[in-house]
Amino acid sequence: MKIKNVLDPVRGCVDVTVTDGVVQAVVPHEPGPADAWSPGALPGAAGVVDAGGRLLLPSAADVHMHLDKSHTYASVGNESGTLGEAVANYAQFAPGVTEEDMLARMRKTALRALSFGTTAIRTHIDFHTRADEETTFRGIRCALALKEELAPWMTIEIYPMLPFFPYNKEDHRRIEKVTAMNIDGLGGAPHLSEAPEEAIDALFHYARESGLPIDVHTDESDDPSVQTVRTIAAKTMLHHMEGRVTVDHLCSLSAVPEDEAAEMIRLMKTAGLQAVTLPAANMYLQGREDRGLVRRGTTRIRELLDAGIPLASASDNVVDPFHPFGRGDLLQIAQLTGYAAHMVSPEDWKTLAEMISRVPKEMMGLPEGIHPGEKASFMIVDAFSLGEALASLPEERGVYHHGSWVASTSSSTQFSPALGRTEAPQYG
Ligand SMILES: [Zn+2]
Repeated sequence: MKIKNVLDPVRGCVDVTVTDGVVQAVVPHEPGPADAWSPGALPGAAGVVDAGGRLLLPSAADVHMHLDKSHTYASVGNESGTLGEAVANYAQFAPGVTEEDMLARMRKTALRALSFGTTAIRTHIDFHTRADEETTFRGIRCALALKEELAPWMTIEIYPMLPFFPYNKEDHRRIEKVTAMNIDGLGGAPHLSEAPEEAIDALFHYARESGLPIDVHTDESDDPSVQTVRTIAAKTMLHHMEGRVTVDHLCSLSAVPEDEAAEMIRLMKTAGLQAVTLPAANMYLQGREDRGLVRRGTTRIRELLDAGIPLASASDNVVDPFHPFGRGDLLQIAQLTGYAAHMVSPEDWKTLAEMISRVPKEMMGLPEGIHPGEKASFMIVDAFSLGEALASLPEERGVYHHGSWVASTSSSTQFSPALGRTEAPQYG
């Protein structure tokens, strides 16, 4: 399979050759016979396609979602829009969810993400050990089923969110049971615990026992005194888990003074922590007490990048009481990251593109993309520059993954003849 005449943001206009699902060559574009690619059509797996100078990006990886909660907003609601009401409303709603409903919503969110070019998802899954056992494992069962169902087209990683209260014997039994299942790591939110150190110790205990990596919600708070990332960094070094621990959110890092933040970031770097920012959810949830200058709620995106800490940007919640918007489109998340962190130059845009593809794929250990020798996994976007893609977020994308075209989306505009035009206006 060959794609001719695609715009790589770094290498310029190129032709890409793929054999047996592996990228063989990426060379400067040379004109030659090819079928024109058009949004909405799935080209043959072996043909030569001319992308007409459109943008080529590696497929995206959403390293922080909650598939089990997605698309529950209409059923659950959240009138105040606060985290407190989201937690309370969802806790009331969750016990009545059927497995069929949950799996259908998870599939819908994953397939929409795939249509936008996301071929890998790490989903956190609720894991309530104090519910009846069927309910405790319901989300995990659904996620395991979806992981298997979509395996040829999409990588799904499952991270159960371990409870943050002190464990009794039965909690331990259920956690041991889940670590023996086909999950990919351990999650949680230890900053919500009344005894965070104990909760973090428990996480590392199970990570050591099971050999699984850790990816936790960390310091998702506006309160500068919430600094569990320090304990997580210390335990990471103590247990020699450098490079295998990911901390997400880190909102309170933005609330501490400059010097203190710099010191905390150095500690993160020393401990080999990886980080994820979730700009959509945090701009929605944080700063609720602020008046006048309402904070953005995101972490110190610039400072973490400047320190060389691997930093991905991801969706978090999609259309649920924790965040009523979103569509699982990482180009949209990249755009929001640009707003949140003032990443406005063309060089910044390349960084934004990396934060939704190369960086999260490295976190997930997925050597795939658009470089020779990698498993081919990419999207053609109906845009003629990275700037246009980030400005327009076109839905028209063609997604290729591991040897086949898996999705292609089209949309079109029709003007009334009274406007005297038929073509939609173009970018630029
Ligand atoms: Zn989350």
